[in-house]
Amino acid sequence: LNKYLENIKERDGLNAYLEVFEASATKQAIAIDEKRKAGKAGRLAGMVIGIKDNICYKNHKVSAASKILEGFESVFSATAIERLIAEDAIIVGRLNCDEFAMGSSNENSAYGSVKNALNEDYVPGGSSGGSATAVAGNLCTVALGSDTGGSIRQPASYTGTIGFKPTYGRISRYGLIAYASSFDQIGPVANDIKDIALVTEIMAGKDEYDSTVSSKEVPSLTPQPLKSKLKIAYIKETLDTDGIDPEIKARTEQLVNCLRADGHDLIPVSFSYIEQIVPTYYVLTTAEASSNLSRFDGVHFGYRSKAAKGVEETYVKSRSEGFGEEVKRRIMAGTFVLSQGYYDAYYTKAQKVRRLIQDRTLEILNQHDCILLPTTPSTAFELNAVKDPINMYLQDIYTVQANLSGNPAISLPLGKHSNGMPFGLQLIGKHFGEKELIDISAYLM
Ligand code: GLN
Repeated sequence: LNKYLENIKERDGLNAYLEVFEASATKQAIAIDEKRKAGKAGRLAGMVIGIKDNICYKNHKVSAASKILEGFESVFSATAIERLIAEDAIIVGRLNCDEFAMGSSNENSAYGSVKNALNEDYVPGGSSGGSATAVAGNLCTVALGSDTGGSIRQPASYTGTIGFKPTYGRISRYGLIAYASSFDQIGPVANDIKDIALVTEIMAGKDEYDSTVSSKEVPSLTPQPLKSKLKIAYIKETLDTDGIDPEIKARTEQLVNCLRADGHDLIPVSFSYIEQIVPTYYVLTTAEASSNLSRFDGVHFGYRSKAAKGVEETYVKSRSEGFGEEVKRRIMAGTFVLSQGYYDAYYTKAQKVRRLIQDRTLEILNQHDCILLPTTPSTAFELNAVKDPINMYLQDIYTVQANLSGNPAISLPLGKHSNGMPFGLQLIGKHFGEKELIDISAYLM
């Protein structure tokens, strides 16, 4: 813990932590030492974990990197946090992110952009940019993120770390500040697949506070050697496009060939909805976000405008002053697609396309062990380089499929670009197939 606290101070310029819980973490560490002496320490005894600032930890601040939650303190802990603490993990602090987890570069935080630990001129990706940069910069062993459309996997790809989004409904969302509830999932970022496996196993499973969590048994996720050769599908459309960086394409194809040479079956498959996935994702998530964010009214939580007189004005001014530009853009887009005249044309239509995407994904996974594709079309870009929101949304082209379909997906470090930045490989697994996905990942690492 002391070493990490030192590292955090040293790399303050990354802007990774919004707050370090030095007092409570030190107290935890001392208590764990006692337990260890008594031979009663938990399975995570002493593991230092940073948490994305949209996950509640009792009696600690949480802001979703938004001004609108300024001064707010959690009155309960997320189920995921409770379970980690029960196994003696140390929660070291809250990590910067895009405001309400909306973004792909971590430039949307009300508390300033986060920098990539590997090169501070570059973004770490988003929205869990603080989580990924903290792991890459050795500022914690494991960081929790949340993944609605790639927010764990994309920053993992940009920082050379491993990022895992379990199946939707594998880990309780209780205590996760909602962005788009039918997509959101908590998951870990780490350097070691064994840490990913252990932390996921401990957080996963039934929870009476979240009815969307599956009651399926959680098996041991400790990586095991493969028992047979793999049958892997790779999506042709993700590689046969001008949209992908040529070096990422070449390295991915090289891996496909290596795996073939090792006797695995690699089968090119077609996924014809590739152009529909980003629009579908943004119609549905902005709709859900506009509804979820209506609770921040200047009355119940955090920030209240000092300029406001009366109830109506309190709502309007607090929200206008409290939310950042990207969040407002999404609330506007979401209320538009849900409005009476446009509901069927946008929201209903997007739900239907979501079903088509889901069905096709499941169809491919019925015949293969997993789907292989790049995590991102490019490496991390320089800070302030992408200004157009649509261009930013297109960063998510390879990651949102797994959220639309609910499948588990992982990003593993694949290579280093000639520009010096890393990039990842993504695997999408079967629903609740975390175990198989982790075994395959361990084999590939
Ligand atoms: N970049 C995506 C978005 O802005 C993903 C966000 C996420 O997964 N939380 O919506």
